Amino acid sequence: MARDGAVYACQSCGAVQTKWSGQCPACQSWNTLVEEVGARPPGALSTTKATRVRGLQFTGLESETAPPPRILTGVDEFDRVCGGGVVPGSALLIGGDPGVGKSTLLLQVCASAAARGVSCAYISGEEAVEQIRGRADRMGLAKANVSLAAETALRDILDGLKRDSFDLVVIDSIQTLWSDAHEAGPGTVTQVRACATELVRLAKKKGVAILLVGHVTKDGQIAGPRVVEHLVDAVLSFEGERGYPLPTRSACSRWAM
Ligand SMILES: [Zn+2]
Repeated sequence: MARDGAVYACQSCGAVQTKWSGQCPACQSWNTLVEEVGARPPGALSTTKATRVRGLQFTGLESETAPPPRILTGVDEFDRVCGGGVVPGSALLIGGDPGVGKSTLLLQVCASAAARGVSCAYISGEEAVEQIRGRADRMGLAKANVSLAAETALRDILDGLKRDSFDLVVIDSIQTLWSDAHEAGPGTVTQVRACATELVRLAKKKGVAILLVGHVTKDGQIAGPRVVEHLVDAVLSFEGERGYPLPTRSACSRWAM
């Protein structure tokens, strides 16, 4: 190890190495290892945080309560690719080239769902609230009952989502978020993974459906690190005019629902 705490994370596959090399030993990509302070090599658990010991509670396979119904957004094509509506408590990654219309589509999804009584929040790390309002106005959605916020600090976002109850939350985009628990910059493997993990955990715990926007990099990967694809329940890729004007079910989707 070069110096204490310094490790090298592959920006392509997320593998963590203790030594820098020109080629990632895990995915064979060249020039993808970047020094990230605070990232831990696999197997190295944190010893700084006090751990609470709690007995494991088992439950039966059969449930007495019916699962909550899927959230129908009213944007029919979006509901269709989600398998007939968004599952409460699920996390979806919406990938696509920058500028393809992910933000516009998701604002429309929020407005449409809100009109059907779904409580929606749209949190942007890319645009100011005024810019989002302007876009909503141009789309004729200015009166939609959607809660807006411009924020990039993960801690503030989690606090807000724990405090207020939403059914559907859009995070635009996962690359702009940063967690103060890590020193690495926004958009790095460490940050993207940490932020996505916390948001997915919140989605499961509170039963809120979270839609994460992820930009596709030059070589066509969502969010650069493929780690996010493994954290979410499904990946939708938004391809725009070249293919279909609406999201298509990605070949790499994992449908855990
Ligand atoms: Zn790699």
